[in-house]
Amino acid sequence: MENRLDTTRFDSAIDRLPRFRVGFYPTPFHELRNLSRTLGINLYMKREDMAGPSAISGSKIRLAEFILGRALEAGVTHLITRGAYLTNSGLQFAAACLSAGITPVLVLTRNIDRHGKLGESRGNYLLNQIMGVETHVVDVEGDIWADAGATAQLEGIIARRKAELESMGHTVMVVGAGGAHPDGFIAHAQTFREILRQSADAGMELDFIYHTIGTGTALPGMLAAKLSLGHPVKFKSIAIDPYDEDGWINPSIIVERTQAVLATLGSSVPDDATIHRELDIDRRFIGEEYAAPSPESTAAIRELARAEGIFVGPVYTGKGFAGLLDHARTGRIPAGSNVAFLHTGDTGNLFEIPEVVGALVGH
Ligand SMILES: *Cc1c(COP(=O)(O)O)cnc(C)c1O
Repeated sequence: MENRLDTTRFDSAIDRLPRFRVGFYPTPFHELRNLSRTLGINLYMKREDMAGPSAISGSKIRLAEFILGRALEAGVTHLITRGAYLTNSGLQFAAACLSAGITPVLVLTRNIDRHGKLGESRGNYLLNQIMGVETHVVDVEGDIWADAGATAQLEGIIARRKAELESMGHTVMVVGAGGAHPDGFIAHAQTFREILRQSADAGMELDFIYHTIGTGTALPGMLAAKLSLGHPVKFKSIAIDPYDEDGWINPSIIVERTQAVLATLGSSVPDDATIHRELDIDRRFIGEEYAAPSPESTAAIRELARAEGIFVGPVYTGKGFAGLLDHARTGRIPAGSNVAFLHTGDTGNLFEIPEVVGALVGH
């Protein structure tokens, strides 16, 4: 299949972009032999969790490479980004920034109704502390995405810190939750390109790519690459937040980002409706809310670990993998299909408090 696609223009459009290299690419791609047998499909995994630079990594390192490429050209000295206190993107941006000689600043929320006040440092937050990263934590009562007051407080902190740093002569860049920034969305076009090459090497063509969707940073690049190259694979997105049309993240934002990547790739840009039709977002695996463990996710984490010795995390990838297992067992994935799961990371959250991790141990 790969030979029939025109990849030259695609590759050169990406190669032209500024990029600060920090990850180990291409990330591995391999079969899950035992689960393939159990589920009656051919199941593969693309390992963005192994992107580096440390063992606890994920899909945001790729975004950081392209965003920091431009930031360095612009003389950026400080990068401020935000997320929940257990953010994976914050951790990965911090690591990438340190490597690039840029000072990271993390502005974080904590849902104290569900997780209590910050106690001992654990999980990703601990890793940020070890790296000596400047962190600001805002306590929020209830859903961190829906709380307008918390959002305003967060934005206030970011604006104040930015102004302070600028008054000291620094150049500051602000990156949205999840590492969302226009310079970064093209990064996962490269992921799709790697998957194409790796599935061709494995002698098969993928029918479905499953992934966990949250801040909407991986799908636009992958989908743009699929459309640009005319590949027939279908994306199946398992949501960890509601993706309502009027929500802070929603399908129309994915469509816009996909169109922007297609324009950067120099490809023709389909209309909104055409791209909307490519989206298939399953919202049934969110559980009670963001960063609350669900029984399905807990079972999926254990099943993957017990079958293959591979770990997904409780906030994102456990829920995503639970969706894939459900789709395979209910016949939504036809028997014999070639399927890949994009492992976006989240393993640092396995070392969080029980209210995040859930009951993973036992029979
Ligand atoms: C950010 C994140 C997601 C959601 O990714 P988007 O592509 O931004 O929607 C999924 N899994 C992990 C581990 C993440 O850190």
